[in-house]
Amino acid sequence: MKSGNRFSSGYTFHPTTFNSPSGEGSNQGGHGPGNNQSSGSDNPEEIKDDEGEKNTFPNNTKEEELLVDTCPVCNMDVETTKFYSQYNGKTFFFCSDGCLQKFISNPGNFFGNHNFDLIIVGGGPAGLTAAVYASISKIDTFFIAKDIGGQAIDSTKIKNYMGFDFISGKMLVDKFKEQFLENHYLAHKLDDVIHIEKQNNSFKITTKSNETFLSKAVIIATGMKKRKLGIEGEERLQRKGIFYKLVQDISLLEGKDIVVIGGGNSSIQTANELLNNHCKVTIVTKGKMIADKTDVDRIKQRQNIRIIEEHDVMEIWGDEKVEGVSVRPEKDINRPPKSIPCDGVFIQVGFLPNTEFCKEVVDLNEKGEIVINNDCSTATEGVFACGDVTNNYGKRIVIASGEGAKAVLRTRQFLKEKKTTKIL
Ligand SMILES: Cc1cc2nc3c(=O)[nH]c(=O)nc-3n(C[C@H](O)[C@H](O)[C@H](O)COP(=O)(O)OP(=O)(O)OC[C@H]3O[C@@H](n4cnc5c(N)ncnc54)[C@H](O)[C@@H]3O)c2cc1C
Repeated sequence: MKSGNRFSSGYTFHPTTFNSPSGEGSNQGGHGPGNNQSSGSDNPEEIKDDEGEKNTFPNNTKEEELLVDTCPVCNMDVETTKFYSQYNGKTFFFCSDGCLQKFISNPGNFFGNHNFDLIIVGGGPAGLTAAVYASISKIDTFFIAKDIGGQAIDSTKIKNYMGFDFISGKMLVDKFKEQFLENHYLAHKLDDVIHIEKQNNSFKITTKSNETFLSKAVIIATGMKKRKLGIEGEERLQRKGIFYKLVQDISLLEGKDIVVIGGGNSSIQTANELLNNHCKVTIVTKGKMIADKTDVDRIKQRQNIRIIEEHDVMEIWGDEKVEGVSVRPEKDINRPPKSIPCDGVFIQVGFLPNTEFCKEVVDLNEKGEIVINNDCSTATEGVFACGDVTNNYGKRIVIASGEGAKAVLRTRQFLKEKKTTKIL
């Protein structure tokens, strides 16, 4: 079910509210807290949501329609039926009690006057940690991200995050998300920031959906995106067998011949997943493999794997879909390229920092990373940055999270010094 037009001016809003598990849901529909009754239905039927919480739904709503929805406040995918409200004969589902309350209390203007003390941009480990810290610090904050999870969600096996011997990226991000949405809610929106500019003593942030927000401080935590190879065939065969990260339903590639380009840890993770799905895998890399040596040694022991080092991939070829790649030894550029037929290509050749939108307010180094000081401050007073998007050493989840926390502690200090903050 997709929520369409939500509000029209002059409409009398009769919210029907449902409670959070703590029973603290709003009561504007005339029911007491803890009473999970819908005023929008005479004959509600009771079902359990996926976390076992008891909820009541109007009996005209099909259960299967409730499984995935989009939160009308923040655009986030909603996979839980915990928080919902009826409006204009429709049932809306929310990512959190916080967004439900925004829907009820301020229809049509969820984010007030769009003027905050702090705006955090980016929803990976750095941004999410910053969000939780900002919430705990009671800073008047707005959080904007293209997605929740960032690169971490692509990691099939995280073996180096404290507290867990092993956890998948998806599971870790779910935990971050729960902490953010359920325990330390902040006003937030899924959107793409396209521009940040300084205006007197504040920053104007513009999003792809053409909204603008003002803030006294900004934390940039926009991480990195996959680098493209820029070779013949790469653009033409997009979505025809070229991948930049693991596909959700990897079983679709079962038994296929796949070339993985790149020699780092991401390539090894991808190759392992493909081998688990009975693919024949060829890794091609410039120079030597740079992934952790133990992982390289381990994958070499598996069947159906071939590693070609010190080769350039010159072209991806195929008519309607990928049919192969051409490779050539790095040190023998006069040799004619050799063909490797395949059904698909995973390109894992590193990352580029996401900084296009903030170039006016930060300094970048030669890699395009935001140059920060020890305290996450940047070239512009009031602009802070953290995580993989910065020149800080070490691209790891635990480091990005730590930096997110540090950036908020420093921002809080900055806002206090400026004596402009509303709460502190
Ligand atoms: C396949 C893979 C496996 C990995 N495995 C591990 C591992 O096992 N252990 C480990 O410690 N690390 C691992 N890493 C690295 C780790 O994921 C990163 O170091 C970490 O995610 C960085 O966090 P971040 O928040 O700085 O950036 P990111 O995770 O890159 O998040 C950036 C966020 O900003 C958002 N964003 C970007 N541009 C904009 C914009 N203009 N407007 C709004 N939002 C924007 C993105 O959508 C995203 O939400 C792995 C990475 C990959 C790709």
